[in-house]
Amino acid sequence: MAKGFPRKGGKIYAIYGNHPAEMAKKLLDAAKVIDAIPRDARISLKPNLVVARPASSGATTHPEILAGIIEYLFDHDRKNVDIIEGSWVGDDTIRAFQVAGMAEVGKRFGVKLHDLKGDSATPVDTPGGRVLVSDRALAADFLISLPVLKGHCQTRMTCALKNMKGCITDAEKRRFHRDGLDECIAALAAAIIPHVSVVDGICGDLDFEEGGNPVTADRMLLGADPVKLDAYVCSLMGLSPLQVGYIPLAEKYGAGEMGIGAGDIVELNRPLAATVLPRASGKVQSLSRNIKADQACSACHANLIHALHRLGGRTGASPIHIGQGWQGKQLAGIGIGRCCQGAAKRVPGCPPSALDIIEALRT
Ligand code: SF4
Repeated sequence: MAKGFPRKGGKIYAIYGNHPAEMAKKLLDAAKVIDAIPRDARISLKPNLVVARPASSGATTHPEILAGIIEYLFDHDRKNVDIIEGSWVGDDTIRAFQVAGMAEVGKRFGVKLHDLKGDSATPVDTPGGRVLVSDRALAADFLISLPVLKGHCQTRMTCALKNMKGCITDAEKRRFHRDGLDECIAALAAAIIPHVSVVDGICGDLDFEEGGNPVTADRMLLGADPVKLDAYVCSLMGLSPLQVGYIPLAEKYGAGEMGIGAGDIVELNRPLAATVLPRASGKVQSLSRNIKADQACSACHANLIHALHRLGGRTGASPIHIGQGWQGKQLAGIGIGRCCQGAAKRVPGCPPSALDIIEALRT
């Protein structure tokens, strides 16, 4: 394992935009990740390819994030890189590599891709029990996890911690569902902790890990502590980390720490200043019916959609204003974010988190 990189706590770096390769490089640069990677290290990139679908579905990691990270590593003379993943039970990882554009990235850079479904595995004992983990994943000197920020129909959300589920065999995945997902995901989180996670928050699905309702959020995050990252992502999605069973358990088992202190979130830029509305889907359109958006940044808009989703679509009768086009105007109804300070009822922040929006809309 690489030395000198804090695995617990630490800062979370955030960047907004829609150029994933450039954003990934800037995040790695800001966190000085290269300083923690020995020149001869075997570096494994672990995306989320739960199903054979493109990133635009909201299910899988954007391939250009991998491209940006590989370029960054190659530019720093770290050339021993591979891509590892095992799709969910019932899908074919090799097909997923192709459909999601990873095979093309591998070919472009001469990087090998490995399907972990057929890999040998070693039992790892943790405070949460024994977990069988892929030998190839365990053998990485530096493991970079690339989860997608998205919802999950059973666990509410999935991000850094649950992304490690691609590092076990299909038989072990089935056992997880038999023995209890929360306990097993938390144990796995303690068994294999990535050195760093780069979260794809470009357009994750609201509630299904297999995609279908992508919501444009145009952001990426980087952190070394997967528990802290998931806790922060919860706040962006309008959840308390205590509502996601495996997060406090993962902390209990030693995989990281949930606490987020003042100054822990380092934003490298501001949200995009252009209007980027969520892609059309019946669910998102339904949630958007009371929203009056005018030049809303995508991160701000996505947080509002997540909040309304968590509220079960209950938007009330008042219009909800959001966006830079409302700056300096007196508004009847609700205003989201710093730009809507002229609203009768407003949620501060730039962008405000989904959790803050929920609190305001509930009262
Ligand atoms: S408050 Fe305004 S500037 Fe800030 S994220 Fe929202 S729309 Fe963008």
